[in-house]
Amino acid sequence: MKTIVCDVCKRVIQQPEHERNYFHIARRDICESCKDQMDLILKPVLRTKQPFTYAWFDQTLQDMLEKAIGRGKFETPK
Ligand SMILES: [Zn+2]
Repeated sequence: MKTIVCDVCKRVIQQPEHERNYFHIARRDICESCKDQMDLILKPVLRTKQPFTYAWFDQTLQDMLEKAIGRGKFETPK
């Protein structure tokens, strides 16, 4: 079985099951708890974005992920 490591928190994901305990987003693997954090940050951004485009969404997601990978975690904005 291949080992999957979360790109953000660098934890090994035990018994990885795609879309269940790890997620493949913007060519990165992220664990469930990081995904939860990401969703928390993403939701208010998505709600206020007008007009919504997928190009914008992809870019935002990617920027967010790259930043999180640099810090080792997703940071909830204050
Ligand atoms: Zn993680």
